[in-house]
Amino acid sequence: MTAVKRQIASTAAEIAVLNPYDGSLVEIVSASGPNDIDALLARTRHGAALSRALPRHRRAAILEKAARLVEEQCEAFARTIVSEAGKTIVQARKETLRCINTLKLSAEEAKRNAGEIVPFDAFAGSETRQGWFTREPLGVIAAITPYNDPLNLVAHKLGPAIAGGNSILLKPSELAPLSALKLVETLVAAGLPETIVTVAIGGADLGHAIVSARDIRMVSFTGGFVTGEAIARSAGLKKLAMDLGGNAPVIVMADCDIAKAATGCISGAYWAAGQNCIGVQRILVQADCYERFRQTFVAGTAKLLAGDPSREETDVGPMISPTAAERAETAVEQAIGAGARLLCGHQRDGALYSPTVLEGVGRQSRLWREEIFAPVVMLERFETLADAIFMANEPDYSLHAGMFTSNLANALEAAAGIEAGGVMINDSSDYRFDAMPFGGFKHGSMGREGVRFAYEDMTQPKVVCINRA
Ligand code: NAD
Repeated sequence: MTAVKRQIASTAAEIAVLNPYDGSLVEIVSASGPNDIDALLARTRHGAALSRALPRHRRAAILEKAARLVEEQCEAFARTIVSEAGKTIVQARKETLRCINTLKLSAEEAKRNAGEIVPFDAFAGSETRQGWFTREPLGVIAAITPYNDPLNLVAHKLGPAIAGGNSILLKPSELAPLSALKLVETLVAAGLPETIVTVAIGGADLGHAIVSARDIRMVSFTGGFVTGEAIARSAGLKKLAMDLGGNAPVIVMADCDIAKAATGCISGAYWAAGQNCIGVQRILVQADCYERFRQTFVAGTAKLLAGDPSREETDVGPMISPTAAERAETAVEQAIGAGARLLCGHQRDGALYSPTVLEGVGRQSRLWREEIFAPVVMLERFETLADAIFMANEPDYSLHAGMFTSNLANALEAAAGIEAGGVMINDSSDYRFDAMPFGGFKHGSMGREGVRFAYEDMTQPKVVCINRA
């Protein structure tokens, strides 16, 4: 056990990071509190001046080198994710590979997206003017991240912010801050001046102090809807980027390959024990293939091995805590009490909650309308695609949706009708490539991540105009 000392912590408080699988102590980190905010901001302001002055080739070289270093330590990063967040080792390795890609994409962005020529002569009377706009840093950006992808979601904030010449005050989830600390150490080892990223670990009170500080020019937040609203209330005049929750639907048409659809939905529903903002929550199945799909999906779900996430053969690891698993268990019990039928799962052992499938869940219920963020899936029958699109759109939250069909017209109708930031055809909702614009419709988010889009959000245009007349 080593105490991590990278962050400023004048209050000398400590946070114990626990392994979600067995509750064992993984590491103790020193925590920051609201009283530390002045020191944190002073350090981050210093970092902002250094970052702005770094030429683009240096920003790119640091990000490229950091990507190489993460690659060299891929297994150690993956093991850290397993021990603090409970993802299976197979899933944690994939998250690490995605983080490497996010850093590489950020390095490319630093070199290519510097601004544009402005066509002043397109407006009569401006013919004598020439000029351009550059992409300038915002200054200090606060990055606040959740526990469920503790490495790659942090990379999605640090990479574009560094590429854009900003400094960052990073508050990772206090439940899983170790991957973030390791990533920041790697960036420093790759040549990043230390004050460009400041890590502060703590809970909501620290988050509130950071968000409401005047020096922060932008808050880039990933987390739950309720927290997002609290941040919006306390932020004041600053830019907000909000990546919030989902409640993803997948539409299964009778004309699709049922085996492929079931396999895709199983992976998408139980990845990270369902603690996944684009995880499959509601599967809408056309009546003609409902029985066949249900049988294949439930049989495949029942075969999944839930248990120790550090073992190669484990399919589903624990949830982040016994409390989170208990919350899921209670929600399912309430749904069953209200008439839903349990098709498999619903067994809890501490933080382990077995993959659970329900049907007949009321469409006015919380389970149908809100994010469950657990390995719980609902099946619902539909007759026409129009009905399915209507049901898909019922919740107020919407990030991604999926659809399985072999009919192009169906695919295009769903793509047009579903209100979501991404519609994945012949994939579950759980597909994401780190370069694409990522975010939601309705209350699912505000702004887009995906390296280019976050970089553009984290920079501001400055116009230079020369009048030669
Ligand atoms: P959370 O909202 O509880 O916490 C997220 C972060 O916000 C943590 O670092 C937490 O300490 C901090 N925080 C809490 N209260 C705060 C406050 N008042 N001011 C400032 N910061 C505060 O979320 P979680 O439980 O860690 O993560 C799960 C949620 O994240 C789910 O809703 C999930 O859908 C969402 N999520 C979204 C995306 C996306 O890209 N859209 C990705 C992953 C997770």
